Amino acid sequence: MIIARTAVELRAALDSKIGSIGFVPTMGALHIGHRTLIEKARESNDIVVVSIFVNPTQFLAGEDLSKYPRREEADFKICELSGVDILFYPEVNTMYGSDEVSVKAPDVRGYILEGAIRPGHFDGVLSVVIKLLNLVGATRAYFGKKDAQQLALITQMVENFFMNVEIVAVDTVRESDGLALSSRNVYLSHEDRIEALKLSASLKHSTHLVMQGVRESNEIIKVMLDILEPLNVEYVAIVNRRFEAIDEVIIGDTIVLVAARVGSTRLIDNVWM
Ligand code: AMP
Repeated sequence: MIIARTAVELRAALDSKIGSIGFVPTMGALHIGHRTLIEKARESNDIVVVSIFVNPTQFLAGEDLSKYPRREEADFKICELSGVDILFYPEVNTMYGSDEVSVKAPDVRGYILEGAIRPGHFDGVLSVVIKLLNLVGATRAYFGKKDAQQLALITQMVENFFMNVEIVAVDTVRESDGLALSSRNVYLSHEDRIEALKLSASLKHSTHLVMQGVRESNEIIKVMLDILEPLNVEYVAIVNRRFEAIDEVIIGDTIVLVAARVGSTRLIDNVWM
């Protein structure tokens, strides 16, 4: 595995290889969710590139940028063992200059739900993703459905800017008890971890209701809020794949989303129907 720390090193590493490029951007503290993305990239591409970069522009003031988990050594090992060809591990000054052209998330879709709670977050996400996609020149880039709104906005950016890359959506990987894997799960105490199961339990119940024939969004949201008690819920929402709120579930075009604080940890999860 080649470790590239600068854009020049990355270009040299890419120039030494031939074939399709599967790219998995991450912020490190890698878990089985990330590994699944890497496996998907490995299955369909000649070259697999992973980036590890804790992107400062997607953190709002007062968020967990400084304490975001960093596991350089373990992450390098995981990448090596997962068959990654090139690991891109840049410093902030490789990725950003002082006075830059900016990318802004769309006014509506970028500022509802996650974007309403974290205004500007998706501007930062899209800024770094466009840089990374351009640097890597990926044939396909892999993103988790766990971050559904992020995935929708990246897909839209690729369309709006006529970028020549295929965005591949990967199902959420969960612990056996249902908790969606997340680098932020390390913040959870033993008690928090039990409370955190309410997110996946509420989503599971939404699926159950839909299977029983319930379609009305408000009815489903009400039951979910009951299950989520007494967590500090930031939103429960039912949207279509374009992230428009819908009054009724449409099978094949619905995402049910939840965001809540468990203790001081903010968690998000969703289910696609
Ligand atoms: P992050 O390191 O949190 O920025 O995540 C990097 C990529 O991994 C993003 O595309 C995430 O959506 C994806 N990801 C994170 N957690 C999971 C999970 N539990 N299952 C599948 N993909 C995930």
